[in-house]
Amino acid sequence: MYYDAHCHYVNLKKKYEGFVIASVSMDYRSSLANLELKDENVLKGIGIHPWNVGKEKLEEVLPLVKRADFLGEIGLDYRLSSAPRELQVKYFEAFLEEGQGKTVNVHALDAWADSLKLLLDHDVERAILHWYSGPTDLLKDIEGAGYFVTINPSVTFQAKHRAVLERAPPEIILTESDGGYEYKGKLLEPTDVIPTLEYIAKVKEMELEEVKKKVEENFKKAFKL
Ligand SMILES: [Zn+2]
Repeated sequence: MYYDAHCHYVNLKKKYEGFVIASVSMDYRSSLANLELKDENVLKGIGIHPWNVGKEKLEEVLPLVKRADFLGEIGLDYRLSSAPRELQVKYFEAFLEEGQGKTVNVHALDAWADSLKLLLDHDVERAILHWYSGPTDLLKDIEGAGYFVTINPSVTFQAKHRAVLERAPPEIILTESDGGYEYKGKLLEPTDVIPTLEYIAKVKEMELEEVKKKVEENFKKAFKL
């Protein structure tokens, strides 16, 4: 089995045998689509992405949270979201409160420290900082909190992300595709976690099987499976 900890699965009209997928939502529509999925091996996330803060209604999406396997993707984005920071925080906190006890799949672009602080303030037990490309000195705090970071296929060319892979202990590493999105002209898919695993093995100087085992273990911990 391969493990994809962050994928916009409802955008992909295809089955992926041999993959366990955490399917994240962006808004009300994708949250509903996620809840309708019948696929085994797909975990359903409910949330409003920080890019959609202010455009989507909290009161529509929050009631769906109780039917979710996890929260996400939610969080803060200080680079690409046009919503004011205070409003982003309000949405993020509303989900953390509504979904207490659930794993949180977090988008935290250029808002790494603030996002981590909010997770800790809300006593979140299990969190995944998706596509972590923030400061590597925060990795200690992420590890200390028992949280995880995902390594994305961009690790082969994004220097910041590669630095994270170099510094992160294997115990906090998950793989993700961010599938369902096009990145630099290529549609990302769960199958992209396979070359990513190979790349992780190379950088961490580990056997591929060892990395796969670790990621599986981490995924099960992260989603309390
Ligand atoms: Zn995403």
